[in-house]
Amino acid sequence: MPMETVRELFKREAASGIVPASAAIGGVLLLLALLLSARVIADEGTDYDLALKHLATHPDVSAALAAVVRLETTNIERLIELTEIAAPPFQEQTRARRFAELLDEAGLGNVEIDTEGNVLGLRRGDGRAYTVAVVAHLDTVFPAGTDVRVRGEDQEIFRGDGKPGDARLYAPGIGDNARGLVLLLTLAEALTDAEVSTQSNILFVGSVGEEGTGDLRGIKYLLRDGGPRIDELIAIDGGNDERVLNQAIGSHRYRIVITGPGGHSWGAFGMANPAHALASAIHKFDAVAREFVREGPRTTYNIGKVGGGTSVNAVPFESWAEVDLRSENSERLFELDTLLKKTFHNAVDAHNALRDRGAALVLDIATIGKRPSGVVDPKTPLVQRAMASVRHYGLSPVLGSGSTDANAAIAQGIPATTISRGGVSGGAHSLKEWWSSENAELGSKKALLLLLASAGVLPAAETGARVDLRGL
Ligand SMILES: [Zn+2]
Repeated sequence: MPMETVRELFKREAASGIVPASAAIGGVLLLLALLLSARVIADEGTDYDLALKHLATHPDVSAALAAVVRLETTNIERLIELTEIAAPPFQEQTRARRFAELLDEAGLGNVEIDTEGNVLGLRRGDGRAYTVAVVAHLDTVFPAGTDVRVRGEDQEIFRGDGKPGDARLYAPGIGDNARGLVLLLTLAEALTDAEVSTQSNILFVGSVGEEGTGDLRGIKYLLRDGGPRIDELIAIDGGNDERVLNQAIGSHRYRIVITGPGGHSWGAFGMANPAHALASAIHKFDAVAREFVREGPRTTYNIGKVGGGTSVNAVPFESWAEVDLRSENSERLFELDTLLKKTFHNAVDAHNALRDRGAALVLDIATIGKRPSGVVDPKTPLVQRAMASVRHYGLSPVLGSGSTDANAAIAQGIPATTISRGGVSGGAHSLKEWWSSENAELGSKKALLLLLASAGVLPAAETGARVDLRGL
């Protein structure tokens, strides 16, 4: 039974009146633009700013904006609850189940968990085959067993009695991305409360595997061939209200393993040593890569984990490293990738040549992650709307690049952006991570406006006619 709702999105071809993605309809915006077509539009931003301003005065929309503000109080309880349900990589199930319940309570109904573990809740539009997905990831970077209890500024467990105000709340994963999940719930509940009717479908998604070796597995599964139709995607992640991400930072991640015969540190001396070869390879790669990344589009590398060996007095039989290469530009990424492989092969060959005896070292470079690079043209309506929503609240939008669920959509040519989750946060991916509710309302309202501008809003219920913009 619960699969029914999202399955409707699979009827791509069967549905009549498919809106091509290229039209990027944006509901209200397009219609409003038609109304304004007689006017010469000097500045590209102006039209979107105006449309958003009108949208905010729509009675249902202003009711939803008011609901968002009201909900910020209960949000603290939800934030604490979700943060304290650990969601280590590949173990998001418990948090997913609870998030599905909360999404259901927020008025979505028929919330389902797909085969990969994503939570999906569909809010139907007026019947057209156009879907805007709004996504926050369920997973954290923290391994099972991490203390995820929420603490106050005094580092005591925060009991939730007495509001924290703008004071910081500390817990691993509280900002990234428990707060993103809470924002999704807020949007769903505000739309239910205010009985907003949209033109497009809105698909609420709690995704799995966004972080690290999860390698976007949840969103990649959602966007698979033959998956539900998604025309635009808004990812909620990151803490800066001015930022609108329109570029996907690509990354290649490897686990490099060097194996050899190993042996006693005294008795087997002179055999090729995997740890020595690995250290030398890292050293040489750092030297050439540092030069390589000095110029051109931003490109970085990191060897974040090294290990292997069994004892201080044993030549290791295995040494390994995990490498993360990133770039805004896919050519640069592939060039750096080639450099990495060449350097490691050369270093291992050199060590093999130096050995006195024993078997040669073997190098294995296994891919553990691949995220494509890409750019959404800033002129794309979704990006324009996102920038206008930032301006609407008196801030200056800043375009940027990131590595989020939006990457997978951008790689497929689906308009996608990433916007802030609201509030102020710091220390992401560290045990000292914190979040404070300062300006949280602004982030939530901004997200609501963008979502509704993208989905298009039908006239307020009492005005009757379906395509009548007088309500705006
Ligand atoms: Zn995140």
